[in-house]
Amino acid sequence: MFASVIVDIPSKSVNQVFDYRIPDGMEDLIKVGHRVLVPFGRRTIQGYVMKLQDTTDFDPSRIKEIARTLDIEPVLTEEMITIAKHLADYYVDQYISVIETILPAALKANYRKVLKLAEGHTTEAEAALAEISGGAEVEPKRLDPEELRRLSPHLKSGDIQEETVIRQHTRKKTALAVYSLKQQGADLSRAKKQQELLDVIDGSSEPLFVRDLVNDGFSNHLINALHKKGYIEKVEREVERDPYSGRIFTSDPPKVLNPEQQHAYGRIMEALDAQQAKTFLLHGITGSGKTEVYLQVIQKVLEEGRTAIMLVPEIALTPQMVNRFKRRFGDDVAVLHSGLSHGEKYDEWRKIKEGRARVSVGARSSIFAPFENVGAIIVDEEHETTYKQGDRPMYHAIEVAKFRSRYHKCPLILGTATPSLETYARSEKGVYERLELTERAGTKVLPEISVVDMSEEHRTGNTSIISKPLEAAIRIRIERGEQAVLLLNRRGYSNFQICQNCGHVPMCPNCDISLTYHKSNRSLLCHYCGYEGAVHHTCDNCQSDDVTFRGTGTEKVEEILRDMFDAEVVRMDNDTTRRKGMHEKLLDHFEREEIPILLGTQMIAKGLDYPKVTLVGVLNADTMLNLPDFRANEKTYQLLTQVSGRAGRHELTGEVIFQTYNPTHYAIQLAKENDYRRFYEKEMAFRRLARYSPYFFHVLFTVSSEDIRKCLKATSHIHDTLIQKVSDQSIIVGPSPSPLERINRQYRFQILLKYKREPELLEMLNSLDEHYHEAYRTEGISLRIDVDPLVI
Ligand code: ADP
Ligand code: ZN
Ligand code: ZN
Repeated sequence: MFASVIVDIPSKSVNQVFDYRIPDGMEDLIKVGHRVLVPFGRRTIQGYVMKLQDTTDFDPSRIKEIARTLDIEPVLTEEMITIAKHLADYYVDQYISVIETILPAALKANYRKVLKLAEGHTTEAEAALAEISGGAEVEPKRLDPEELRRLSPHLKSGDIQEETVIRQHTRKKTALAVYSLKQQGADLSRAKKQQELLDVIDGSSEPLFVRDLVNDGFSNHLINALHKKGYIEKVEREVERDPYSGRIFTSDPPKVLNPEQQHAYGRIMEALDAQQAKTFLLHGITGSGKTEVYLQVIQKVLEEGRTAIMLVPEIALTPQMVNRFKRRFGDDVAVLHSGLSHGEKYDEWRKIKEGRARVSVGARSSIFAPFENVGAIIVDEEHETTYKQGDRPMYHAIEVAKFRSRYHKCPLILGTATPSLETYARSEKGVYERLELTERAGTKVLPEISVVDMSEEHRTGNTSIISKPLEAAIRIRIERGEQAVLLLNRRGYSNFQICQNCGHVPMCPNCDISLTYHKSNRSLLCHYCGYEGAVHHTCDNCQSDDVTFRGTGTEKVEEILRDMFDAEVVRMDNDTTRRKGMHEKLLDHFEREEIPILLGTQMIAKGLDYPKVTLVGVLNADTMLNLPDFRANEKTYQLLTQVSGRAGRHELTGEVIFQTYNPTHYAIQLAKENDYRRFYEKEMAFRRLARYSPYFFHVLFTVSSEDIRKCLKATSHIHDTLIQKVSDQSIIVGPSPSPLERINRQYRFQILLKYKREPELLEMLNSLDEHYHEAYRTEGISLRIDVDPLVI
């Protein structure tokens, strides 16, 4: 017996399987989808069994044996192996990198570390290996750093730390907590903050995690002070890895569907009953009850003993969706998203694999949830760009969803108020069946939208970023005790610093972009590479002290709003939500404390559903319009529609104000009129003229290097190859510098290929990639091939 094994060597030239002999007596232990250890050259490395066979095309006498298996049950199903192959071919990538995207990182991480151990040591390392490789079944013994050091003296201390962290994913996790010793007569009258902290600890029936207290503004110093005085004691307390466990979800019975919802539900049910791999576009305005349709479809799928996958754009931003699912399906729901630790993800993955959860709610990569017998796949907000991975493998979750829908013969539902042009065009052609929800569910109506011309505001003497109509509208909300959501798609305090004497603007030394002023940490930041520079109050170029800041970001608007309304403001952007769990915390605060104003970047545009929000203001509707991207209009229309949908979702009627310098632009006008159909037609006409998607398919080639000459040379090579290989009907644009020519010290040049039909294309791309990969790697040049790119 032989096994075809794909090995963990991230190189295109070994994008092939190797045959290994299965040792005698191990025939029953090794199945397709198992992780195995195999000899490779002089090393022993990780691999995945792709196929079992009785014969081999290689010389049997030279074939080596599999060293050992790492799993009791295969981690990859046949379905996942086929998907990996499909994605690797389609997106011009390596099987191994797709496989490792499919699997939870904890499996891979364990594995890498185990190998390090195994390289140096035999018996003891074997024992350690056996422990971890048990995965689900074996609860591994705790190995502390000392033990590890003894086990493998060759490990560097950094590795030891990492190893310890990784081990923690496979065992119960604890963290430092404190509880009160309830000392009588504690006198902290002269230490108010300590008293406050002690009151909090006193009031809790169980130990409180130190890190939670720190998050709530009590310093470690303060905690230690109480500890020293003998008022509190420290303990290690187990951390629940299920971030939702212990939370109570009130149940939420299904609603009676309205006729449009009923029709959509009925059509989907027909496909489900007929075991049809059919794709639906559920086109429903915001608040039309799409989610209610999803929930009822899933209900039915579960009743039939099948499973369901629900994708959301970025779950950290949509805790409300998880709530709705937990309220309907309880513990049957697994939640998978980037905000979870490796350990948490692994636990959720196992829940699915072992059949303890039958529904998953998650972001992009949860499309790989290891379900069997899938009955429905739902992609909410299907137009969102987060569904495509930005790094290799650059796969789109909908591509995987279609594959799985065909594999399981089940319906795929793409839901949105603002379909991507590609999706809508397919529904026009009948490739997808379109289901429309044209009214808000219940008795609610869409909010009234008005457009404020900011040039006019300036002419009449108001230079503030808040127009007079918006100011008045916010005041009304504050008076009535209602809430306003304000969108400004720009973080930081000011966009850039400029010298009024010589015009010098401080730029990032690594990128082609000006630095953004962040007031809270008094620095100039690069939003692309993270470079942080000090703020100088004299010009670096001419030493003039006439330097000023231009442009307005969320940090500054927060100040302006506080001054203008003397009201509290919750600000949500990358700066305030960096820490885990902050999204949810800030939104919770906004809702529960009834803070009058929520200000944020586009992360507030999606999913929010609060009864008291009756006003939405878009401070600058033009930020997206000006992006150098052929989808700029589409993105603008989508964002404006999404964010407008946050207003008046419950009893109170909503109002929306767009501030813009382009009041007559069709993306803005038609978003105001909520006329997707006309927007689609106008935008399609432009796409046809400019020969862009959906009329053409795209492949984007980006070459980057620190050396601009190498970059140009490589780009022109690729250009020459393309000219030779593609048909006359295809269009090659470029080479040209990327919209940001230099990021992170790397120059970037690009070529865009537009084509209608190129039957040999994938083959050509794969051989191009393979050819250039090795050649370029040693020269410090990288080639990135983006198939169906979302950003050009
Ligand atoms: P969408 O997902 O399209 O934004 P939701 O499913 O969130 O819409 O529905 C918006 C609101 O209307 C929710 O509060 C939901 O509970 C309610 N709703 C949905 N369907 C119905 C229905 N058939 N009857 C009454 N209320 C409904
Ligand atoms: Zn100057
Ligand atoms: Zn930079």
